[in-house]
Amino acid sequence: MQCTSTRGAGPVSLAKALAEGLAPDGGLYVIPLDARPAVTLGTTLAETATTLLTPLFQHETLDAQALCHAAFTFDAPLLPIDDDSFLLELFHGPTAAFKDFGARFLAEALSRLGLPPTTILVATSGDTGAAVAAAFHRRPGFRVVILYPDGRVSARQAHQLGAFGDNVRTFKVRGSFDDCQRVVKEAFADKALVAAHGLSSANSISLGRLLPQMAYYAHASLVLQQRGLGPIDVIVPTGNLGNALACLMAKRLGLPIGHVTLATNANRVVPDFFSTGTYAPKPSVATLANAMDVGAPSNLERLRHWWPDEAALRREISADWVDDETIRRTIGTVWRATRTAICPHTACGVAVRDRLRAKGHTKPLLIAATAHPAKFETVVEPLIGQTVEPPDPLAALLQKPAIANPLEPTLAALTAALVRRA
Ligand SMILES: *Cc1c(COP(=O)(O)O)cnc(C)c1O
Repeated sequence: MQCTSTRGAGPVSLAKALAEGLAPDGGLYVIPLDARPAVTLGTTLAETATTLLTPLFQHETLDAQALCHAAFTFDAPLLPIDDDSFLLELFHGPTAAFKDFGARFLAEALSRLGLPPTTILVATSGDTGAAVAAAFHRRPGFRVVILYPDGRVSARQAHQLGAFGDNVRTFKVRGSFDDCQRVVKEAFADKALVAAHGLSSANSISLGRLLPQMAYYAHASLVLQQRGLGPIDVIVPTGNLGNALACLMAKRLGLPIGHVTLATNANRVVPDFFSTGTYAPKPSVATLANAMDVGAPSNLERLRHWWPDEAALRREISADWVDDETIRRTIGTVWRATRTAICPHTACGVAVRDRLRAKGHTKPLLIAATAHPAKFETVVEPLIGQTVEPPDPLAALLQKPAIANPLEPTLAALTAALVRRA
């Protein structure tokens, strides 16, 4: 598969695009999105993923089947929440959020590329760091350095981030997520530092995370089509647009997916872009759905590349946003109606469904459930009046001791920390 940059560089092989992450011209790698021979439904997610991704990995050194079977070791089940709405549960992986799918696939791909010793450096607002740490934990040839903003992630998220040990080192940064991201960007801009430590990124702009995320939309849409419910309309809770783009890419590759609605929290840059046609990034504001607190969604560059025509964009895709009060109310109403606990991010999607229904949308809907509610128990439990038990992998991590060293938000402090090999 030939990949090009949204800003023109390339073409390069998929393997090279995965190894590089960001294109050398500062753009994001994209692939051509033409409808392909029909993808067939496999008996497992790994099988569907293999039929979906194999054509993309033709003439590549990487074997799609091996990658899919190593990465997709857990399912993405459908849970009906009423007669014609389904949650797509994406939180059955090791860190209980959808990012496990992409992180595990990328880690497997990078391992098989035989890179020189590599340090994966990540700034995280909560979920990415844990998924990346879990995916690279104890992988020979890799170490992981995580920066998270001290006091601004949930207690359980903080514990998860610090609980890996071995080749994973975790730093709590005195500052905001933006400070963490700035220091990481400064590190990647320092050529000598990058060379000295083999610095590499695993953030959501990597094609290696985007491509595998298409698999669960492919699998779910084919299952629903088999039940006579296709093409299915989908709602995706959205921050940096990675998960949503995966759904849109699957649709363009010919899967039975109908209209796609993006649901953001009060960080409404994407819905504002849809209604005004102008992209106006803003500093992020803190919300209950903290993994979606993004004020400058970098993947928007890909959306505009693949949907250059705004009329076509609006025909196929919509966007709406949800405030914290609505998130709270929705968690409560879903619990009372179905006894299903949902996380605050998933609640944004369900709230948007409620609005679509109120406006007369009657077709079945699929809503991506992006994290397990036990990850956000301090928000969810008081609203439903119940404790939410963590799933086994999360419970196991929470049993382990957690270590995070404090770090000042400066390149000098990070450089010193990188040299002190644990
Ligand atoms: C990362 C994340 C999101 C947002 O996903 P994007 O790909 O950035 O749009 C939503 N929910 C949860 C739980 C997440 O961890």
